[in-house]
Amino acid sequence: MDICNQCEEQTKKSSSGKPHEFLVKVDESRIFKGKKPRGFEEQDYKCLTCSAKFTQSTNKNDLAWTLWRG
Ligand SMILES: [Zn+2]
Repeated sequence: MDICNQCEEQTKKSSSGKPHEFLVKVDESRIFKGKKPRGFEEQDYKCLTCSAKFTQSTNKNDLAWTLWRG
């Protein structure tokens, strides 16, 4: 599956990076509660251009932006 240039760039962004303009939120964010600093949130996104799916996570042990290759 080919992804668009904006999604390619998105994979390199940090957790503070914003989703690119054609990434739209899918569902609500998932909040994982834990004792600080272990709580974190995940949010799924889908690209309107190439249909790539991303998950943004604030979990320090995960990639900030995970691309799900189909
Ligand atoms: Zn894309």
